[in-house]
Amino acid sequence: MTGAELSAAFAAAGAAGWGHVAYERLLPAMSREARDRAENLCPGAQSVLVAAFPYYAGRTPGNLSLYARGRDYHLVITEALTTICHMLEEKYGSYRFVPGADNSPLPEREAARLAGLGMIGRHGLVILPPYGSWIFLGTILTDLDLSLPPALPSGGCMACGKCLSACPGGALRGDSFDPERCLSHLTQKKGALPPEQEALVAAHPLIWGCDVCQLVCPHNAGAVETPLAPFREDRLDSLTSEAVEGLTNRQFREAYGERAFAWRGPAVLRRNLALQKKK
Ligand code: SF4
Ligand code: SF4
Repeated sequence: MTGAELSAAFAAAGAAGWGHVAYERLLPAMSREARDRAENLCPGAQSVLVAAFPYYAGRTPGNLSLYARGRDYHLVITEALTTICHMLEEKYGSYRFVPGADNSPLPEREAARLAGLGMIGRHGLVILPPYGSWIFLGTILTDLDLSLPPALPSGGCMACGKCLSACPGGALRGDSFDPERCLSHLTQKKGALPPEQEALVAAHPLIWGCDVCQLVCPHNAGAVETPLAPFREDRLDSLTSEAVEGLTNRQFREAYGERAFAWRGPAVLRRNLALQKKK
């Protein structure tokens, strides 16, 4: 397929942009375990296609991170990429095409950077104007050498530092990131939290995720809203204690199985809701 044909296929699947990078260029950013997993999924891997899907649909009040309010992006993006994989398989039947959406061993953000798809912010997220950092990334790993002209890697953000100073947990410091102080990680972390982490979650307005570093970023000012129906329709802004109280894991999955927070089960959400009630 030519670059123009791939552009048409990604646009039809809902991607706001796409790029490609040779698999070997990702190796420095991959652990031995990640390489083994990737090469098990796709022996002889040659190329990675990476695409961005916008999800921003406004800033309505709620206690769930904006990314988790529509349909689960793992499902949406995997379906979109599977359509493209089928097209590629029809054309290149002897090659393998493996879709991934936040669950593959590939370093998606580094792939997006090397593919020239979007710039990397100091908050570590990929920024793709005019959608800002409100994008999901998805990849297709293949053993086909795409033989497309190499892309120029993207640069960085405007480096204003607002995400660092606004970070409620102090997780962003210079060039380092401490996940144990990041509310996005802590609101998903299982089990009892140590007192310092409990206090961070209790003081946080969301029970799932954290949007602060994105909300303050100038690249997100005036971000264009997503045209993608799964992220615009049937949105769930908030969860109450009553909505998750007493649910078994199975009942929870039946009620919320198509939401991005469902994989974690109800216990973590109940804990976060209880911590916030204490404050
Ligand atoms: S998601 Fe929240 S806690 Fe995590 S780095 Fe961004 S601002 Fe800090
Ligand atoms: S807030 Fe500033 S430093 Fe942080 S990602 Fe956005 S532009 Fe970069």
